[in-house]
Amino acid sequence: MASSTKYIFITGGVTSSLGKGIIAASLGKLLQARGFRVTIQKFDPYLNIDPGTLNPYEHGECYVTDDGAETDLDLGHYERFLNIPTSQDNNITTGRIYNNVITKERKGEFLGKTVQVIPHITDEIKANFYKLGEDGKVDVVITEIGGCVGDIESLPFIEAVRQAKWDLGPNNFLVIHLTLIPYLKAAKELKTKPTQHSVKQLLEAGIQPDILVCRTEYHLPSDVKKKLALFCNVQLNNVIEAMDADSIYDVPLLMKKEKLDERVMTKLKLSSKENTDLENWKDFLGKLKNPTQEVTIGLVGKYVSLPDAYKSIIESFTHAGASIECDVNLRLISSEELNSDNIIQKLTDLDGIVVAPGFGERGFEGKIETVKYARENNIPFLGICLGMQVAVIEYARNVLNLKDANSTEMDPKTSNPVIGLMEEQKNIDQMGGTMRLGSYACDLKKGSKAYQAYGKSKIQERHRHRYEFNNEYLKEMESNGMIATGTNPETGLVEIVEIKSHPWFVGVQFHPEYKSTVLTPQPLFVRFIQAAVDKKIK
Ligand code: GLN
Repeated sequence: MASSTKYIFITGGVTSSLGKGIIAASLGKLLQARGFRVTIQKFDPYLNIDPGTLNPYEHGECYVTDDGAETDLDLGHYERFLNIPTSQDNNITTGRIYNNVITKERKGEFLGKTVQVIPHITDEIKANFYKLGEDGKVDVVITEIGGCVGDIESLPFIEAVRQAKWDLGPNNFLVIHLTLIPYLKAAKELKTKPTQHSVKQLLEAGIQPDILVCRTEYHLPSDVKKKLALFCNVQLNNVIEAMDADSIYDVPLLMKKEKLDERVMTKLKLSSKENTDLENWKDFLGKLKNPTQEVTIGLVGKYVSLPDAYKSIIESFTHAGASIECDVNLRLISSEELNSDNIIQKLTDLDGIVVAPGFGERGFEGKIETVKYARENNIPFLGICLGMQVAVIEYARNVLNLKDANSTEMDPKTSNPVIGLMEEQKNIDQMGGTMRLGSYACDLKKGSKAYQAYGKSKIQERHRHRYEFNNEYLKEMESNGMIATGTNPETGLVEIVEIKSHPWFVGVQFHPEYKSTVLTPQPLFVRFIQAAVDKKIK
């Protein structure tokens, strides 16, 4: 491991969902703004090799990186805050760790030895902790440990953190514990006991947290801070208050106010290279909070009961909306509730419509009705991945008059498979990691809506799907007005479709939302919102 690299570990206590990912990303942002090169990684304690096979209803969105890794949605926050790409190495699960160790065992790498959690699993975890810091390209590696201290599942990770202190030395190692200070209404008091207990659990595992970041709904009075410092064995000014914020994008500034970055730098003996440069971040926040226009966009999909399933899309609207000072009122609509009888009533006041990515048949016909409504009524439309496939199917059925047109995902026996599997996908019998994943090139047709948005003809976007536009139908589609305006230069696969006669109708086979960041809003989202604004004014 590179000795100059500093390693920060973030653990969580008391309860899940405290926003470790946002704290990690905010600290990363503050250190980056001081001129340090930062990366963030997440270690998840579950046994799946990656979250690609997890249900979005349970786990939220699966985020995809350039190199095609299917990862935890927190990596999306890291990219959106830091504006730098992550990769497979930034997200490791217990499943991957065990898989690596067992593969080595079968190869005979531990010949003669009994393979055990300590040291073999913990060594593998540590090797992965250090990996991103080894090539000297980053100054600080922030590692978020998923789950809560005390969970059986996260024990090997916690043990590896304990050992890492001795590998790295005290000036290169720091633990931040994110915890909750609940407010008891009846007693009118903020309570520190749950935090004391969770720190005790860390201490039992041999880890003394250096900094406590305390999530709270009310300001922490100084006596509460003193009590936390005393009972949790931390320096008083290392007890950091993290009040609930209006927007996740406020958190870096709140943490700066609380001096989280300074406390970290003092402990790690990092001297700041530059003054904090957060000007463009503040500029973004200013526009986000002072919009001059407003639109209502419908996001139609089947996972709407858990908005985290559409995390990157929702954040893309925040970035793109702010860039043109437009407040995007995003309405999540369940496609299962939509049919030809209620579609007008349900979608009538929308300025723009998105049909979301997804898998499987449920809610599919509601999506078809949604596309038909947007197409026939000249409502700005963005179809993402499955949303693009639905747009193609709807066009084939209702304009080309191929009434049974479908995707072979929904109807394997359809006589008009306008969306189907590529030959190389047909023999795949494993589900994990076997889709078209990661970044692919796409050439744009000059004059298209997509070309206008990107302002160039060669782009790269990230994919996560199995099915593709069937090029046997391309000619007929194009002669009837649905044009392939983006294609893969190597395979000829259709990546974007547009309807020539419609004010703004774009379907993309890729996921533009994965590349939107605070400082570089995704161009298709910007143009789509602008089209919705234009429609509203008319
Ligand atoms: N289910 C579709 C496919 O596999 C679309 C996937 C998606 O929307 N991400 O091709």
